Amino acid sequence: MKVETKLKLAAACIVVVMSAIALLPHFVTASVTEVMAELDKAIAREREYGVLLNYLSDAEAAERGYVITGRQEFLEPYHEALAALPAVGKALGTGPIPAAEQKALEDIARLTAAKTAYMREVVRVRSADGAEAARALVDTGRGKQYMDELRVRIGAQETAYANYRAGLRAQLAARSSLAANVTSVATAIDIVLLILAGLAGNRVLTQRRKAEQHANDISRQLRLTADIAERRNVQLQSGGEMLHALELAETLEEGAQIVALYFSRLLPALSGSMYLYRHSRDILERKATWGQAHDPDIIEPLDCWALRKGTQHFTHGDEGTLACRHVAESGARLPRICVPLVTQGNVIGFITAEGMALGQDDSATERAWIMQLSEQVALALSNVQLRASLRHQSVIDPLTQLYNRRYLDETLKRELARAVRRGAPLAVIMLDLDHFKRVNDTFGHEAGDLLLRHVGTLLLQSIRGSDVACRYGGEELILLLPDCSLEHATARAGRLRQQIRALNLAVNKDVLTASASFGVAAYPVHGDTPEALLQAADAAMYAAKHGGRDRVDVAPLPAPVPVQ
Ligand code: GH3
Ligand code: MG
Ligand code: MG
Repeated sequence: MKVETKLKLAAACIVVVMSAIALLPHFVTASVTEVMAELDKAIAREREYGVLLNYLSDAEAAERGYVITGRQEFLEPYHEALAALPAVGKALGTGPIPAAEQKALEDIARLTAAKTAYMREVVRVRSADGAEAARALVDTGRGKQYMDELRVRIGAQETAYANYRAGLRAQLAARSSLAANVTSVATAIDIVLLILAGLAGNRVLTQRRKAEQHANDISRQLRLTADIAERRNVQLQSGGEMLHALELAETLEEGAQIVALYFSRLLPALSGSMYLYRHSRDILERKATWGQAHDPDIIEPLDCWALRKGTQHFTHGDEGTLACRHVAESGARLPRICVPLVTQGNVIGFITAEGMALGQDDSATERAWIMQLSEQVALALSNVQLRASLRHQSVIDPLTQLYNRRYLDETLKRELARAVRRGAPLAVIMLDLDHFKRVNDTFGHEAGDLLLRHVGTLLLQSIRGSDVACRYGGEELILLLPDCSLEHATARAGRLRQQIRALNLAVNKDVLTASASFGVAAYPVHGDTPEALLQAADAAMYAAKHGGRDRVDVAPLPAPVPVQ
């Protein structure tokens, strides 16, 4: 039988037994009431018999008093008794009367009638014939005989009713005790049934709870799997986006920003940094940071175990684990993974991430994911590096490290358009080393190269971030100065002239000095096209040459357009 069925059965039994117990007082009361009514009836009849005997005794006593005294007042109780007797007889004769009593009752009625008739005769004789005659009648003993018989029969009835009453009382006690016993047994059965029902219910509940827990576990597992799949989808998508963005990055700095942005999206619970080797490879610079990381700006290669080992290094953040020296105090107690960025066998840096979950399935997945991402980032960043270096090579003059003419042409066009748009000035300084052929001829081509390199460095050191220094060709150099007026540019050219003049380069045992001639032009004064500005600067520079070299000339103002 199934537990549910047992439970239902037990519940039905409890309802039945409880209902029986609830009805029991009703049955007991009905039964007791019935016995009580019977008792009342018996008491009433017993009393009636007593009353009958009393009236007869009163009447007899009064009759005797009258016989002796002859005084009428002695007869009052006699008259009262005789008047009441019919009612008593009637009361005793009504209602269902048992057959045995019926016979006794008829005898009593007959004897009562005989006694009353006798007493009437005595009273009449006393009243008519006097005391003597009456006493003679009394002396016959008939009156006493009637009375004795009545006493015996009425007494017998009273005794019978007393016994009947005792029987009824015993019956009452037996019924009450039966009711109490039945109630006790029913209650005991009820308790047993309740306990059984409780146990069965408990079992059902336990089974249900287990089933529910099982269902919950499965649904939680499904949700978890769905979450992981969803997260993995987002991760794959974002990972793809990151690699695509890295493909388009022009510089390592831009690449680092992309890495920081996507790592914070891909691993939102973690914090971390990306370090890249400096060109010299003696230290690593923090290029990107995400989350709450407080990693140092610069670290040495030996500070990181992942770099020492050449493979990932994971620590739980406990005291017993091998912690990297670069870990900041704030992150010392957090689980951490460091992964070297390796591409084509070269370590270009490493990624460090802290705060990953521990003791979960997620942890290993998270770490594997970080390693996978790091591998892709390393490859993408080395491509960025390669592209940046190619781009650098395409726009940078290898001898002087200045931009080349191609770059100048592009930039001048762009900067001029910007200056026109913003209504800001743009100055151009053109300079050409004086008698450079002579330097080559006297000190050798390499000395010429050395001088060119020094002048290039001087230019790079003297310009602002937005300025552009170019090698226009041979030993002809150009400075492009956005937001710089003609006057300021002229002053800067003057300073540069002096700095070149101050150069003293040791070549073998000789000292090499140099000078340069400068031509300055500016937008809007000398035109609003690249050609106009370059021509004006070139003309000014040639003017400086013709003017004796080692000097700065400003391009003359263009002739005003004649009004037609
Ligand atoms: P000027 O004062 O009139 O400018 O006289 P100059 O000798 O400098 O005359 P010019 O500008 O005509 O000569 C440029 C020389 O610079 C020609 C060439 O041999 C030399 N030159 C051009 N490029 C390089 C280079 O990369 N290295 C070296 N060493 N010499 C170069
Ligand atoms: Mg020259
Ligand atoms: Mg020249």
